[in-house]
Amino acid sequence: MSLPVLVVLVVFGIALSVAAVHFTGGTTTATLAGADHAFARFAEDFPDERPGAVRLTADSHAAFLDLGPQRCGIVQSIGDCFLTRIVTPHDILELTREGNAVSLRLNDFTWKGGSFVFAGEAGVMDEYNFPQVTQLAIPFFVVAILIELWLVRTGRAKGSFETRDTLASLMMGTGNVVAGLLLGVVSYWALLWLWQFRFFNLGLSIWVFVAAFLLDDLRYYVYHRIAHRVRWVWAEHVNHHSSQHYNLSTALRQSWTGLFTFMFILQAPLVLLGFHPAVIAFVFGFNLVWQFWIHTETIGKMWGWFEFIFNTPSHHRVHHATNPRYLDANYAGTLIIWDRMFGTFVAELEEDRPRYGIVKNIGTFNPLKVAFHEWIGMFKDALAPGLTLRQRLNYLIQPPGWSHDGSRDTSETLKAAYVRRNPGEAGKPGLPEASARPAE
Ligand SMILES: [Zn+2]
Ligand SMILES: [Zn+2]
Repeated sequence: MSLPVLVVLVVFGIALSVAAVHFTGGTTTATLAGADHAFARFAEDFPDERPGAVRLTADSHAAFLDLGPQRCGIVQSIGDCFLTRIVTPHDILELTREGNAVSLRLNDFTWKGGSFVFAGEAGVMDEYNFPQVTQLAIPFFVVAILIELWLVRTGRAKGSFETRDTLASLMMGTGNVVAGLLLGVVSYWALLWLWQFRFFNLGLSIWVFVAAFLLDDLRYYVYHRIAHRVRWVWAEHVNHHSSQHYNLSTALRQSWTGLFTFMFILQAPLVLLGFHPAVIAFVFGFNLVWQFWIHTETIGKMWGWFEFIFNTPSHHRVHHATNPRYLDANYAGTLIIWDRMFGTFVAELEEDRPRYGIVKNIGTFNPLKVAFHEWIGMFKDALAPGLTLRQRLNYLIQPPGWSHDGSRDTSETLKAAYVRRNPGEAGKPGLPEASARPAE
């Protein structure tokens, strides 16, 4: 083949390619419709990957997908289609970040990288925009409280309300929301930081949400049990038990100081297992909504199968009661099966009606006192003169009511004293055997 013919053929070939690209829309640049689009396109090429959060560039021409420690998936528009690839530190020749802009130079002959400008400095936190379940439920809370109030006031249902008590509960609830906005981000960011060390990335599917809900409900059981058995955590949780009434407004009597107990570390195993912190926060919202409606005396015992599986008004009345047999029982959030499995279940008895509150009621409606009284009491005890270091520590970590000289009542001493007064009750659910006498 002579040289001129070869040149003509090459030029013609190039012209044909340019025309083909031009007339098939190759000069337009495809845009990603959103995170789902990026996930779907990436999954076509990498079906085995389970991307976590995704971040779109401001022009929606590219998306960065979080694939776990030191790995990132990229969906990038080239002409009217998208290319995908996985980038590891090994592929990166140069990486510069400036504000929302990232520029990347890759050690790859097919794609040299490029510059990407992201919409905001949001980070992974905003990539999952799940609804705030508890906030959406606030109108339902208000309407339900008003209906219960009307039912009780008109004598149509069992229950008791006291205006000052309900107001205190509502203020505690409001303060809890404010504290969540101010302090909740701290624990959330700690969990997001942990997310990079996860063993798996479970991604998002209906089963991931179901599994997250169940495991988080178990996490709540563990937290709640600790909250009643370790004074450091009780100092925060006692708020919820400080009302001597039991109605829907009691449910809103939530703590302000949860962050300081560091109990959010109980969520760490879930994060490491591959549940994104946003998923955990989302499913916990449903748990809290469930825990709202069970704070009522208007509903008696429900169907047998329901009472067997779920935490119900009857089971949670037991949890709020100070009757000796009911102390330290029914820690469940949504599923009562955890209490049945771990031996903390006590059924409500017709002949032992719950008396609500705490063993030593604080007799105040002042939200500040409600929020901080036990913290103050605990530090006073721990810092009292003449104690050993071990005794001081015990005031923080032993169950509520523990004292270095045994001068106060714990739930064990109250239960034992009750059995001594009522020997026939020994060994019944929530009560010790008669032989279990404490040192007098
Ligand atoms: Zn409790
Ligand atoms: Zn409660």
